[in-house]
Amino acid sequence: MADQQQVYPVPDEWKRRAKVDAEGYETLYGRSIADPGSFWLEQARRLDWIKRPEIAGDWSFDESDFHINWFTDGKLNVAANCIDRHLASRGAAPAIIWEPDDPNEPARRYAYLELHQEVCRFANVLKAEGVEKGDRVTIYMPMIPEAAFAVLACARIGAIHSVVFAGFSPEALAGRITDCDSEFCITADEGRRGGKRIPLKANVDAAADRAPALKKVIVVQATGGDVAMKEGRDVWYHHVAESVSDDCPAEVMGAEDPLFILYTSGSTGKPKGVLHTSGGYLLWASLTHELAFDYKEGEIFWCAADIGWITGHSYILYGPLANGATTVMYEGVPNWPDASRIWQIVDKHQVNTLYTAPTALRALMAEGDQPVKATSRASLRLLGTVGEPINPQAWRWYYDVVGDGRCPVIDTWWQTETGGHMIAPLPGAHDLKPGSAVKPMPGVDPQIVDADGNVLPGATEGNLVIAKSWPGQMRTVWNDHDRFFQTYFSTYPGKYFTSDGCRRDEDGYYWITGRVDDVINVSGHRMGTAEIESALVLHEKVAEAAVVGRPHDVKGQGIYAYVTLNSGVHPSDELRDTLKQWVRKEIGPIATPDALQFAPSLPKTRSGKIMRRILRKIAEGDTSSLGDTSTLADPSVVDHLVANRVA
Ligand code: ATP
Ligand code: MG
Repeated sequence: MADQQQVYPVPDEWKRRAKVDAEGYETLYGRSIADPGSFWLEQARRLDWIKRPEIAGDWSFDESDFHINWFTDGKLNVAANCIDRHLASRGAAPAIIWEPDDPNEPARRYAYLELHQEVCRFANVLKAEGVEKGDRVTIYMPMIPEAAFAVLACARIGAIHSVVFAGFSPEALAGRITDCDSEFCITADEGRRGGKRIPLKANVDAAADRAPALKKVIVVQATGGDVAMKEGRDVWYHHVAESVSDDCPAEVMGAEDPLFILYTSGSTGKPKGVLHTSGGYLLWASLTHELAFDYKEGEIFWCAADIGWITGHSYILYGPLANGATTVMYEGVPNWPDASRIWQIVDKHQVNTLYTAPTALRALMAEGDQPVKATSRASLRLLGTVGEPINPQAWRWYYDVVGDGRCPVIDTWWQTETGGHMIAPLPGAHDLKPGSAVKPMPGVDPQIVDADGNVLPGATEGNLVIAKSWPGQMRTVWNDHDRFFQTYFSTYPGKYFTSDGCRRDEDGYYWITGRVDDVINVSGHRMGTAEIESALVLHEKVAEAAVVGRPHDVKGQGIYAYVTLNSGVHPSDELRDTLKQWVRKEIGPIATPDALQFAPSLPKTRSGKIMRRILRKIAEGDTSSLGDTSTLADPSVVDHLVANRVA
């Protein structure tokens, strides 16, 4: 496609200012693969160790000797790395800037010194309520500073946090509490998003009925809304906090001691309780934050995710704070009170780097350029994206309209399982191609294999696996080590299987083509859903598209497209034909959709990813068994799609 030939060279300014240039990347990457032992021990120096490790990676992906350990003999505390070690040099510098849901309310700022006090006090409250090292603590919180304090307080005392996104239902929350046998839950009276209130404490009450493991609920007063408190189980955070000190020693932790459990988004089935440990994870979050975002002292970094997702863990909290950055935390949603909100926040807090998801960009793009153009955005220097393949159309809009053609767009491919970025450009090192995640991070050894596991060299397409362990790799599925091995290491023995499809071009650039399950085979031609979706989104009337395969008598699989139109555009048979012809022209006759359904909205996970698994079932007409839909953001979307299915 013409799209993929378009190259955006590293701007001259970036060649001058970046920490890592093209040559620097080659040297760094080369060393990481040729001599991982000494490379990683040297990288480990970016952390503050109580006992410095002398062993780097100790791992095997083989079934007979399956184990993954990093820096095993090292000792450290993750929270001390994110806070205490910065106090002497930048104690008065802002650690967190918090922007509330309602723009008329004041923002809050916490210097590193203040963050230290808040986290210590929170840690002492946890101790006072009986939390001990190794206990699982469920955090079900709105995006308020106390959520960050709670996470870091767990890390400080060695408790294992399990953050559950505050948009999840009581059922989903109960399932996650039960799965990791968590006796403690931290929540707030209510959350606020887009001007609405979310009854978090009431949700916890409902979840508790189904989660007998839960013994204690610590409630932060956020809105002052009315809530019921259950005697003996529920305590107000601010009551306990009155009587504890704001000094709390950091627990000495082994590098392989668990840091947190986080359940995957559930795009493909029952969520997995991904376990990350202390040393390797923090090193990975810190290194990738510095490299991919070319982070420099004093910059304002805004990752517009929720701390309920891995993106929030690694790039709102752990990565930026380990690097002593100023991180922005936003309570609300991108389109409230209006479609300018994100860009207004950029101006208000003079944000230098913005990191968000394609789903948010597509939604904002559908509102036109005016809400963006009404703001300055002069502070921006770098833009990032994560979560799904980004359509080249959305990439260019981000680059041209949001970044005014000044800011590189960094497309970062990674997973909950990987802890941090795996394939991503470094802005000072790599020319960019819209839609490509570009090159592997140091230590990451990606391979493309065919269905039989044969490694495909050069420019090729197939299944993406990672051949070597890296420090940020998950260590197990909580309580189900067998599922861990079976899910990730049994398909292609000796390798980590990502479940994603991928293409590598002549320049060695990587292009994620979507989940392997989503690759469609039409008359023997393999096609990534991402490519057809990108072609549809290129059309001026289309806001969003999702494509799935369904059985076809002649072709093996046929192409079924769901299309959401821009606001104000009305569906018609004529437009349907136009769009089919459009794809035919953009990609070729083989990619012409067999069926095209107009969809006012698409089924998405609460992290905003399209659930193609459900769309596939609807396309096939198999609507009686849609599988696990508990992670759907809005279940009613499905009924509308079923009713309007194209036979
Ligand atoms: P589950 O594993 O429960 O089905 P999930 O895979 O959606 O859920 P996450 O870990 O949040 O859970 O998402 C990781 C996946 O998101 C990747 O495997 C990939 O499919 C997709 N992804 C993330 N970033 C990108 C990107 N930059 N380009 C393409 N795909 C991406
Ligand atoms: Mg996944």
